[in-house]
Amino acid sequence: MRTGVTHLFIPGPTNVPERVRRAMNVPMQDMRAPDFGDLTLGLFEDLKRVLRTETGAVMMFPGSGTGAWEAAITNTLNPGDRVLIARYGQFSALWAQMAERLGLEVEVVDVAWGLGAPVDVFARRLAHDNRHAIKAVFVTHNETATGVSADVEGVRRALDAAGHPAMLFVDGVSSIGSIDFRMDDWGVDLAVTGSQKGLMLPAGLGILGVSQKALEASQSATMRRAYFEFSDMMAMNAAGYFPYTPPTQLFHGLRAALDLIFEEGLDAVIARHHRLAEGVRRGVRAWGLDLVARHPSLYSDTVTAIRTPDDVDAREVIRIGYETYNASFGSGLAQLAGRVFRIGHLGDLNEGMCLTALSLAELSLTGAGARIQLGAGVAAAQSWYAEASARPTLSQRVA
Ligand SMILES: *Cc1c(COP(=O)(O)O)cnc(C)c1O
Repeated sequence: MRTGVTHLFIPGPTNVPERVRRAMNVPMQDMRAPDFGDLTLGLFEDLKRVLRTETGAVMMFPGSGTGAWEAAITNTLNPGDRVLIARYGQFSALWAQMAERLGLEVEVVDVAWGLGAPVDVFARRLAHDNRHAIKAVFVTHNETATGVSADVEGVRRALDAAGHPAMLFVDGVSSIGSIDFRMDDWGVDLAVTGSQKGLMLPAGLGILGVSQKALEASQSATMRRAYFEFSDMMAMNAAGYFPYTPPTQLFHGLRAALDLIFEEGLDAVIARHHRLAEGVRRGVRAWGLDLVARHPSLYSDTVTAIRTPDDVDAREVIRIGYETYNASFGSGLAQLAGRVFRIGHLGDLNEGMCLTALSLAELSLTGAGARIQLGAGVAAAQSWYAEASARPTLSQRVA
């Protein structure tokens, strides 16, 4: 029998705040009612603030982040178009695979898992593409499989330096709302996210930020699409309606989640993610274990991927955490299976939850045979949290 709280330390779905869960507990309502826009129109405006776009449009499709990937591709590209993408983890690999399945010509750059977007390689390829055959560059902002944050702004600079007109697609599923993301400043044409990560909701919404340039491209793009058609969505969204039944409960939850984000302040939310993540990383360092991310400039503030010692199976760590301590940790995906476990630290989270994650990870690691000192990681994180809360400038520093 399990007593007490079941701990969810995975990088999505994340913990749903009580206020958000209660906000979703409402009766069904008429999605064609004259006042339906009172609920939905404000959501579009506030999502724009989260994406930091004034010029782009926001759309919400029933679906998940993967559906939003598909919507972004099929609405703006043509069959056989060339796209440039780097694979540096399971999510970027799956995105490249989708692009192939949908019939694009995919130019893949393989990068060691633990590194980020290869800005220099992209810059060279773009500079050599005189005929502008590359129609889009895909960047996974936060590679959830490896705990790496990529330099989206650097990719934008590479595009600009080459004078290249390709669209910039960004997977922000595990970054938007948690890590600094600037759609307009970085010239992002398609920003993709989902409801169940930084937005602290159940899964069910695929959310897109679409630039004016991408909207223009969508008017002549010839890839096949039906359910995800931007123009149908935009036409109905203008008055707050949808072309098919929308998940109204999720909209009520999203209203509450956005209120929480703006009550705390988006900058403060981002600073909190940095402060909490830094504590987790210091804990891991105190164990003497390595991160998958190879350099501090790549560290993700939403997920930490931890290599277990060579003689410790990460699957055992995760199994013990779940079965003995009511705690879920993220697994090592694909080539990292058995070698890595992950601590998700995004969304509705505080110091106490991160300390609990470290403490239960220590017990699980020890149970799986790792020779680490119990309490070492917790103590290191506590020292950091004490320091960071005593010196607000430290905790407010946005990486
Ligand atoms: C979770 C995640 C996805 C997949 O999103 P779903 O909502 O599960 O479809 C895609 N990309 C990244 C970076 C993610 O973290």
